[in-house]
Amino acid sequence: MNEYDSELVAGLLEKEDYQRTEQAEEAQLILLNTCSVREHAEDKVHARLNNLKVMKKRNADVKIGVLGCMAQNLKEDLLKSKPFVDIILGPDSYRKLPDLLAQPVESIENIVDTKLSRMEVYDDLFPARREGINAWISIMRGCDKFCTFCIVPFTRGRERSRSIESILEEVQRVRDDGFKEVTLLGQNVNSFLHDGHRFPELLQEVAKIEGIERIRYTSPHPQDFDDDLIAIHVQNPKVCNHIHFPLQAGSDSVLARMNRTYTKQHFVDLAHRMREQIPGLSISTDMIVGFPGETEADFQETIAVMNQVKFDTAFTFKYSPRPGTKAADFEDSVPEDMKQKRLEQMIRLQKEHTLYRNRALIGNTLEVLVEKDSKKSEKQHQGRTRSNKIVIFDKAGEQPGDFVNVEIVDAQGITLFGRIVA
Ligand code: SF4
Repeated sequence: MNEYDSELVAGLLEKEDYQRTEQAEEAQLILLNTCSVREHAEDKVHARLNNLKVMKKRNADVKIGVLGCMAQNLKEDLLKSKPFVDIILGPDSYRKLPDLLAQPVESIENIVDTKLSRMEVYDDLFPARREGINAWISIMRGCDKFCTFCIVPFTRGRERSRSIESILEEVQRVRDDGFKEVTLLGQNVNSFLHDGHRFPELLQEVAKIEGIERIRYTSPHPQDFDDDLIAIHVQNPKVCNHIHFPLQAGSDSVLARMNRTYTKQHFVDLAHRMREQIPGLSISTDMIVGFPGETEADFQETIAVMNQVKFDTAFTFKYSPRPGTKAADFEDSVPEDMKQKRLEQMIRLQKEHTLYRNRALIGNTLEVLVEKDSKKSEKQHQGRTRSNKIVIFDKAGEQPGDFVNVEIVDAQGITLFGRIVA
């Protein structure tokens, strides 16, 4: 979402005749688009701002801005601890940027705007995109779920969706710019609702656009996932056979304290129905260990769900309290060494499952979209299957953006290795 928002802001500034530079030293304006979802992300921004302070000392004319969730969440702290920051704008205030830049900065009120909106979806603004394979397209903003560990509802405000017409216009634009793949984005992407039109309908309409070959979306919430959405995957192969399906925890009591609004059985049943019905489906997930009050028995329940679903990949995190969230006030915190032990056990198990899923693909021929050179050798390409698996294979004259059929010959970690077949 932040990548998309950065492209949106770049688009807004390009309309005002700003030009992008690759060298920070050449810039007259430097904007950091920030994330508050984990402490680590915030620490990185603080470190980056400390570097920019040095730059500002050398060149007092450079304007420095903080955008996004940290601007929303930590504006008081930023104003106090980083007085050299000129502009602080929350995620619903980007439209103000050109006007602010045109004004002399006279007072703090001139440069801070973090008002959240119930309407803003940037329907009429189009991002300035750089990379030519996958285009991110925001379809809804905000979140009404209020998971107790998450700061997003406070930094990004209430759920609101774009119109289908404006989304389709943007998809057509990116198709005309040569993109083959789109990823529809939202904090709760499958709770999309505009004028009575739901998410499965939107997917159906996007799939009608010729030239767009792959459609992905992230992140859905299990509570809003239903059989209509599974059916869209089955009926329309353009809607990729990969679903990011965030479990977070596999114990009902932890799920209830997290306010995730589903039970583990609901989750497992849905995952089984998805796998039964969608050919070659891969499922990725997000997991949190060490949520306040998580007992060893709770953790073992989570492990049991992982063993049942056998996710293809998982993003695993140790819980860390985010100030301002409900869970930050919960007691019974899990000791740090216990969190670490559980995290390591979870990672070991997930590695086994990833290998199990990926080895099952050896001998299959899969359609791969060529993305870029492989990190290890310029003689090899890196591409992606519809099921979102990374594949490395020798080059044979194809270009990024081409589709090739690749026979999978090996699997190591999260990566598949293959050779092009006719
Ligand atoms: S669904 Fe929960 S985790 Fe996801 S953005 Fe909303 S509050 Fe945060």
